Amino acid sequence: MSFASLGLSKSLLDSISAEGYTEPTPIQTKAIPPILEGRDLMGCAQTGTGKTAAFALPVLQLMSQEPGQGGNQQFRTLVLSPTRELASQIYESFKTYGKNTRLRATVIYGGVSQDRQVRDLRRGVDIVVATPGRLMDLTNQGQVNFKGVNTLILDEADRMLDMGFLPDMKRIISLLPKERQTLFFSATMSPTVAGLAKELLQNPVEIRLAPEKSTTALISQSVYMVDKERRGDFLQSYIWSKHFERVLIFTRTKRGADRVSKQLGKSGINSTAMHGDKSQSQRQRILEGFKAGRPRILVATDLAARGIDIPGISLVVNYDLPMDPETYVHRIGRTGRAGEKGEAISFCSPEDRGLLREIEREIKAKVPLGTHRENPGSQAEPQPRPEHSEPLKETRSFETFGQEQGGTVPDFNSRPKQTERSNVGSSFPQQRTQKGKKNKSVKKKWSFQKGFAKKKTHY
Ligand code: AMP
Repeated sequence: MSFASLGLSKSLLDSISAEGYTEPTPIQTKAIPPILEGRDLMGCAQTGTGKTAAFALPVLQLMSQEPGQGGNQQFRTLVLSPTRELASQIYESFKTYGKNTRLRATVIYGGVSQDRQVRDLRRGVDIVVATPGRLMDLTNQGQVNFKGVNTLILDEADRMLDMGFLPDMKRIISLLPKERQTLFFSATMSPTVAGLAKELLQNPVEIRLAPEKSTTALISQSVYMVDKERRGDFLQSYIWSKHFERVLIFTRTKRGADRVSKQLGKSGINSTAMHGDKSQSQRQRILEGFKAGRPRILVATDLAARGIDIPGISLVVNYDLPMDPETYVHRIGRTGRAGEKGEAISFCSPEDRGLLREIEREIKAKVPLGTHRENPGSQAEPQPRPEHSEPLKETRSFETFGQEQGGTVPDFNSRPKQTERSNVGSSFPQQRTQKGKKNKSVKKKWSFQKGFAKKKTHY
């Protein structure tokens, strides 16, 4: 199947091939034709499946075909998104795919000055991507004119409901013209989400992609039974053990994220922390830096668990297990994206075994015990990437997407008994002694790393 056969225009096909996409993903194949026909759509799909292009491409095409009916302060497409990060990503996608059109887009979210946003609305744009909270604020100030909207897109609707945006969403939607095309995307379909979809959509095409598990099939998962106080050392040893393009480490708390980043820094591993205490512009800068590989390691709270799409995250670390098993799936979904393989490791202390069981119930598989041993003497040569990392792979294909289902979440019949599991943790004190007696060559390795990491400080 080619993009051209989906009925997309030449200017869009050009921007798609400039992105290196060779063929449409399953959701793009299914969603683009009915959207081009003007149908409403309900898509049950995760971020990472190519769903942004699935709605952005046909919407851009329809918009460039119709004469601009807006005029001052009127825009035609409204996209609502739960988080600032996701809103920015969607906005960037519209800009990328629509670069050969004359359409203009803006993004609106809280935590930053509203001046630029108001200016864009006044000047007139075609597409507005917004989080409900800030859009509602601007609406209350009389800055938004919804009269020209003929396309509404709700992305990650379930997440918007979880975040308590329902009243804002309903109020905003009540201000839109009734004659419109509505595209509704959600990762999960709880009765509340389905109820909202039913209220908003007219005779929609329904697309359900394989559940999240098939997305995680490309991710090799493992768990390490590590006591809380040993996690820091274990993490460092793991990071040195092989080459990782980018590493995303999740902690439960903001302080935890800062602490882990600091500890890594002390051992010569350059990282940055991102959490809700950082300002929006700091968060933006951190994400851009991480995307560019400066630094390659990000320690974050669950702020980064959903929606963030950064290519090349080869390792996700659950430094703390999440309290809610669904979050585990979202966290590890930051790797293994766009058909690439990824790895996710989790640290589980004795008191968190209950959380691990819940996660295993959620993913309907046992998470295998990892095989890495914290032993600096046997480490592979660490391979830091230079500050100016190589460009990311340009051509991504979805050929292998989801085909390895079941292959990387091994059958767990061979899982060691509980006693063997705890042995993994109890071998650490012994290794600590070994570590104290690091031989010269190992020391050299570590100081080389330190020298490298000291070259630049970030944020
Ligand atoms: P999304 O689910 O929209 O967040 O997209 C996930 C990632 O897939 C993004 O990095 C897109 O750039 C990429 N992507 C979208 N469509 C394709 C495609 N047809 N081929 C390869 N990569 C794609």
